[in-house]
Amino acid sequence: MSEDRLDVEVAIVGAGIAGLAAALAMKKVGIKSIVVVESAAGLRSTGAALGLFPNAWRALDVLGIAHKLIPLYPPLRKFRVTHTSTGATQEVSLDGAPVLRGMEVRVVHRRALLESLAEELPPGTIRFSSKLTSITRQKPTDASSGVILDLEDGTVIRAKALIGCDGVHSAVARWLGLSTPIDSGRGAVRGLSVYPDGHGFSSGSQQFLGKNERTGFFPMNDKEIYWFITRRSNPSDKDMAKEPDLILKNVTETMAKGFPPAFRDVVNHSELSTVSWAPLKFRLPWDVVVGPTHRGSVAVAGDAMHPMTPDLGQGGCAALEDAVVLGRNIAATLHIDGSVDAEKVERCLDDFVRERRWRAAGLIAGAYVSGRIQQGGSGWWESAVKFIRDGAFYRYMFPRIVSSVVGYDCGPLPITLVPA
Ligand SMILES: Cc1cc2nc3c(=O)[nH]c(=O)nc-3n(C[C@H](O)[C@H](O)[C@H](O)COP(=O)(O)OP(=O)(O)OC[C@H]3O[C@@H](n4cnc5c(N)ncnc54)[C@H](O)[C@@H]3O)c2cc1C
Repeated sequence: MSEDRLDVEVAIVGAGIAGLAAALAMKKVGIKSIVVVESAAGLRSTGAALGLFPNAWRALDVLGIAHKLIPLYPPLRKFRVTHTSTGATQEVSLDGAPVLRGMEVRVVHRRALLESLAEELPPGTIRFSSKLTSITRQKPTDASSGVILDLEDGTVIRAKALIGCDGVHSAVARWLGLSTPIDSGRGAVRGLSVYPDGHGFSSGSQQFLGKNERTGFFPMNDKEIYWFITRRSNPSDKDMAKEPDLILKNVTETMAKGFPPAFRDVVNHSELSTVSWAPLKFRLPWDVVVGPTHRGSVAVAGDAMHPMTPDLGQGGCAALEDAVVLGRNIAATLHIDGSVDAEKVERCLDDFVRERRWRAAGLIAGAYVSGRIQQGGSGWWESAVKFIRDGAFYRYMFPRIVSSVVGYDCGPLPITLVPA
């Protein structure tokens, strides 16, 4: 066990999309010392890939890394949705929102996104194998005082501000008193399929709707295809959570059974290490609006603040928006030497939360409703939902929801006035 002491302006817990992007935004506005503590031994790219929408590309552009990723991934302008029971196919356009060139929807490797963010940070900013175990205030009676973080390896960090970017099971959110995320009753399997000689899919992205399941795949380049399947959770799903071979077996033998051979062929080409299963959780929108998402010098961002179901593909995009808004607000607390004015931290985190909470609550609600409709199901309520899904949803509602969501502009970061 190593004993270490560290004094920083801002500590961030979690080196996922939210934590790394927040650290980069803070570096860009000139904060002189930032540490990101991450419990894993390296960057975690569970889920293999994710869709980034124009709102995410705007944030990545502000963070200065969009240009690294855009040339690597082709834009996704539309996808086809096939109802397995009838064979009827609809084409869904993603071109609804006016989008600057390059900022179209793209499916990117999670690892590429995380590495692009991480390599912009000064060496030593990220401390891997560093699990947060407790948080205490520097002055117990003063909510606006800085905090002391204890890490599992014995390290003690004193910070003027703490941002919890520690994901859906956030310890920082618990410390703040936020409600525990709710299980939606659905789960998702994701994976990456590799075709060394090229996959030859010319028809682009495709989704298939079953009775209680939805699947889809997205060619990312000539040789790799990202795929997913969502369905109602079974009690036994948890047993396979840490076993990619069991997950894959379950998909091929059970979950994907009613889906066309094209989808099963994609699944059969999966790179085992990329296959994962996750229960789909969300925080109630009103808990994000009125709940304690910040207190004194501590706040949460990304999934720690607003976990949502993935049905609009917005969790990671929203984490990138958070980072820019956080960077802009925390810049208002800076002294000329890049140190944070501790007296102003509480106000700046309050402004950050005010700017983000309605947006985040809307995304959670939109994703949940979208998921319920897309999932279909059985019973009279589910029949009504299925009626909407098969009739109007993909044709009229989904493109409108997506274009209203992805038109969001997180705004700029202020020009740095202090030496970086
Ligand atoms: C099936 C599925 C599909 C999705 N598809 C999309 C999509 O297409 N587009 C999109 O934008 N989003 C998508 N999402 C959502 C997206 O994956 C998340 O919103 C995003 O990864 C959240 O990033 P984060 O940094 O907030 O949290 P995380 O990625 O969970 O990162 C949290 C980090 O904190 C670390 N950590 C946790 N606790 C501690 C601790 N105590 N001490 C130190 N470190 C700690 C973890 O190890 C982890 O690295 C999808 C999600 C799912 C489940």
